[in-house]
Order: sequence, then C-alpha cells, then structure tokens
Amino acid sequence: MKALVAVKRVPDGNVPLRFKQDGSGIDPAGMPMRINPFDESALEAAVRLKESGHLTEIIAVSIGPDTCNETLRHALALGADRAIRIESEQVLEPLAVAKLLQALAEREHPDLVLLGKQSSDTDQAQTGPMLAALLGWPQGAFASALAFEDQKLVVTREIEGGQEALALALPAVVTADLRLANPRYLKLPQLLQAKKKPVEALTCVDLGLEHFASRQELLQVSAPPPRQPARKVSDATELLTCLREEGLLNDTPKTELKLETTTAQGRALVLAEHEGGRLHPSVRHAVGAARCLANEVVLLVVGEAVLAIEAATLAGVSRVLHVDVAHFAQTLAEDHAPLLAQAARDLQVDTVLAAATPFGKALLPRAAALLDSAMLSDVVQILAPDRFVRPIHAGEALATIRDTQPLRIMSVRPAAFAPVADQAAVSIESLATPAPAGKACWLSTSQPERNRPALADARIVIAGGRGLGSAAQFRALIEPLADRLNAAIGATRAAVDAGFIGNDHQIGQTGAIVAPEFYFAIGLSGAAQHLAGMRDSRVIVAINSDPAAPICRHADYVLEGDLQRILPELLALLEK
Ligand SMILES: Cc1cc2nc3c(=O)[nH]c(=O)nc-3n(C[C@H](O)[C@H](O)[C@H](O)COP(=O)(O)OP(=O)(O)OC[C@H]3O[C@@H](n4cnc5c(N)ncnc54)[C@H](O)[C@@H]3O)c2cc1C
Repeated sequence: MKALVAVKRVPDGNVPLRFKQDGSGIDPAGMPMRINPFDESALEAAVRLKESGHLTEIIAVSIGPDTCNETLRHALALGADRAIRIESEQVLEPLAVAKLLQALAEREHPDLVLLGKQSSDTDQAQTGPMLAALLGWPQGAFASALAFEDQKLVVTREIEGGQEALALALPAVVTADLRLANPRYLKLPQLLQAKKKPVEALTCVDLGLEHFASRQELLQVSAPPPRQPARKVSDATELLTCLREEGLLNDTPKTELKLETTTAQGRALVLAEHEGGRLHPSVRHAVGAARCLANEVVLLVVGEAVLAIEAATLAGVSRVLHVDVAHFAQTLAEDHAPLLAQAARDLQVDTVLAAATPFGKALLPRAAALLDSAMLSDVVQILAPDRFVRPIHAGEALATIRDTQPLRIMSVRPAAFAPVADQAAVSIESLATPAPAGKACWLSTSQPERNRPALADARIVIAGGRGLGSAAQFRALIEPLADRLNAAIGATRAAVDAGFIGNDHQIGQTGAIVAPEFYFAIGLSGAAQHLAGMRDSRVIVAINSDPAAPICRHADYVLEGDLQRILPELLALLEK
C-alpha cells in the first residue's frame, strides 16, 4: 500500500512575528522556517505504518517555490521514499491546494493520503476534508491514532470533550493531530543522506491544472489589540478583593442578545450541531453571526424531531430544515456534507455557516469543496458582508479578508458572536431522506462524563499547566478551586501530555477555544499556542513563580509566587 503525505513549509511558531510596515502581511525576512508540525506528525505516522508492514511506499509532496525542497529533504530524512514538489510561486488557498493534491493522487493512486489537520501559520484546517470531498473518499479528520482492522482503517479522532473511532474504507484521507505520532529525532547522517536524494518537480500544467485565481483577498494583517498592563497583586487576599470587584462571585449569566431586527440582506444556511438530545450551545452563537449577514436564516438540523422543535424557537431563525434519519444519528462528514451542500444549492443561499467546533471544522470544508467555494475558518469579526477578520499564526496576528464569492462559506468562533435568545416557533420542513455514503462507519465515542460546566460555555475556567508538577497535585489543587467556583477545568498541552488530565481539557491552538468571564492561568507559561485558545477571556489571572513568563504580559492580574502555597490560601479565603 502506498501513502501520499503532504508537507508544508511554515514559519517556526516559537519565533515572534514581524509585521510588514504597510500592514500587508508578515515580514518573511530572516524568519526561520520548518516543516508544519502537524504534517510532521502525519509523516511520522506513515513511517510507523511502513515499519509495521502496512505501507510499502511513502511519497512526500510539498507545494511551493524551490525553498520547499528543504522541507521535502526533511521528509526524506524522516523516512519518505520519494519526494515531489509541485511548483507554485502563488500563495494558494486550501481549495487550490486540495485540487493539486487531488490531481497528484489521481496520478499516483495512493491508498492513503495523510496530512496535518491544519498548518500552523494560516490555521485554516480545510485542505484534508476538501481533498477527501474532491476525491470522493472517506475522511478521518483530527486523527490521534490509526490501526488496520479487516481491510479497514480505524481512525481515532479528537472531538469535543473526547474521542471518536471510525472505520474507513480505503482509499481514505486522514488529517493528523499532533498526538498521532511524536516525530523521531533526526540524526546528522540521515539529514546528509537525504540531501543527496532527488526531488521530482512538477508544474500545475503537468497535473492538468492551470493558474488558480484567488477567490479571497487578504486586505490587512495586524497584531491583536494589546491588553491593559497587568495589575500585580501581593497575595491571595488582595487578588480575591480585586476579583470580587470584577464580579467573580456574582452569579451573572452570560448576556443573551435578542435579535429581532437586522439590517443585513440575504439568506444564510446554518448547520446545527447537537449533543445529548439538545442543540449544542454554539448554535445560538452561529445564528447570531448569521444574522450579521442575512435577514433570512435557515437552520439545518439532522437528528431527532425534538432538536428541530428546539431549533425553531431560536431568535432570528426564519425556517428549520429537518432530516430525521436513524442512519444519520452519528455525525459522519461523508453523509452530512452532501446534505448541507444540496440544501445550499436548493435554497440558493449566499452564506453557509457553522460554529468553529471540531464538528463544524471537519464538515464545513468538505461541503465547501462540493460547492467549489473557498471558505473562511474561525471568523471572529464580520466587518461588512464581504469583510471578515480571522486569527492566523495561533492568534498572534489577525487577518482581514475580503470574500466576494456569490456563496460565502465560513466557520465562526462561538465566543466572538453574541448568542441569540428565544422566539415563538417558526415552521419546520422535512427534507427527503438521502442514502448514507457508506464509506465511513462510526464505531464508538468516548466522552468522559462531566460533573462541571463544559469548557465551551463556562463562566469561569481554572486552567493548570506543567507547573502543577503531577496528576495528583493537579487534582488536589485545581479541582477544589473549580468546585468552589463552579468552574470548568482547562489545561495546557504540556499538562495533558504529562498525563495530569485528559486531552478533553486542553485549551489552545490544538484544543478548545474559550473566552470566559474569568480565566485562571495557574503554573502555565502562556505559550502562543496556549494563548490562541484563551486570549479573549474578559479577566485573565496569572499565578506563576516567574514574573517574566509570557502569560504575565497577557494577564489582567498577576500573583507572583509558588502555586503550592497560593492555591490553598485562595481556597481557604473562598471557603470563609
Ligand atoms: C503546533 C503546536 C501546537 C500546540 N498547541 C498547543 C495547545 O493547543 N495548547 C497548549 O497549551 N499548548 C500547545 N502547544 C505547546 C506549547 O507550545 C507549550 O509547550 C505549552 O503550552 C507549555 O505548557 P505549560 O505552560 O504548561 O508548560 P511550561 O511552558 O513548562 O510552563 C510552566 C510554567 O509553570 C510555572 N511554574 C512552575 N512551577 C511553578 C510553581 N511551583 N508555582 C507557580 N508557577 C510555577 C513556570 O514558571 C512556567 O511559566 C503546541 C505546540 C505546538 C508546536
């Protein structure tokens, strides 16, 4: 069996970005470059599959100028057998990349295409599902484990609050989470040997494709607005006094926006996510975002009738389209994306929108490719019907993009848009029952039971990092505080990888994105990838022994000191 692994050359995420003076982008001069860490994880997984006898050949492919040969040589050193560079001087949108990879897959006939779930620079997370749609193959997005069973590829994938296992018929596309495989350490002789290996160069024309016209225009790239300098507090008592004034102990619910009117014109189709027999809280936010773009919002609900009834009462929704099919009970992108695309065509909508949750992120790009539309991921601001702001480089920069396509497709960050309230129920229409695609089969879902608020909609998040030292300390110090404040528990990737807590608690570029009223950052340094998931929190409290830790520059209150001493003091004060 053959695997094609796509590898992208990206700026090293550990080096601060330099912005071009004219605001047109990131200054690449002198920027150290590396293989996209998610692609590296995909490649390592392929090499392990080859070592275990499941694969016979690995072809690494990169798209870009000849500097990408360096990335391909790294891939050869890691264990790829062949390397192909598709020449392009253009900055390509994910849909164009997916079309090039599709053409290459049709030439090379791989059984498996592996690539990172996102690139660490543009953070779109679109190419894999788009490629799967174009090829008509099943997809395993955000994979953290792979196994072969009965001629099928079993993919364990990261979903909100847990994991899901799918069996995919081959050929298939898999996008890798960092957890899929930790890349091996490369030795100098491997790197030197790889330098001597050839890299095949292909042009778009060789693959039967022409120049790609950009569908979207990058208008501006800027740094996120700075926060006010932090207030340094001397002890737990002073911290609690400040936080009381901020409303920490008030039981104020999050504001709900009743959207009875909108000045926007147009028709939007919103995909409704659900869990446990209820609509996902993000749906209200997605409808709120859709109302910024359309006066008619149609909600597509695939699931039990009770969900459609709930959907019909969300303020601002004009109609509900309902598909009530037992075989769609599990949300397979292979089944849902064609449904969404067909509904978008039938209704002639100008916007298709979903919340940027793992569900929306796996499904929406697949639908976008079926509709031949470029899409926008993680929109955080709608400036005008054709102007959007989205974070790039793990939130270290904000990109303003003009999208004038007749059909705009976007995922929106729930926390960035106010949720809608309730209204009198509108009409529900049933859609015809499509047959399942049958190329992917749901096997199981494991979502640990929660006895605390969910991260996504918690008012307070208590997050711990490597500084907690051990799983036992994490439990002993973080849990009582979370219990006392009725808070959700978050963690850094380092804390999760060290086994302090499950990965369903991870916050950041590769975890949950949260924006609670209060975020306690305890014993965590505030790496860019962590800030990406929490920088929009209203009040950030850092408890850290190192006043130079980056989190102290992003916090509103900093208490410098040993968390082992501070947390029991804080808890004792709260218990009084
Ligand atoms: C592509 C990519 C994606 C990533 N995605 C994520 C992501 O989604 N989320 C994420 O969190 N990370 C992510 N990371 C990892 C990230 O770069 C950092 O390595 C990680 O966030 C560091 O975790 P930490 O802050 O817990 O650990 P450290 O950086 O080791 O920080 C520990 C902190 O604890 C403090 N400390 C130690 N002991 C004490 C004490 N007794 N009292 C008080 N303070 C103490 C230290 O001063 C230090 O600031 C990603 C990395 C990559 C390359």
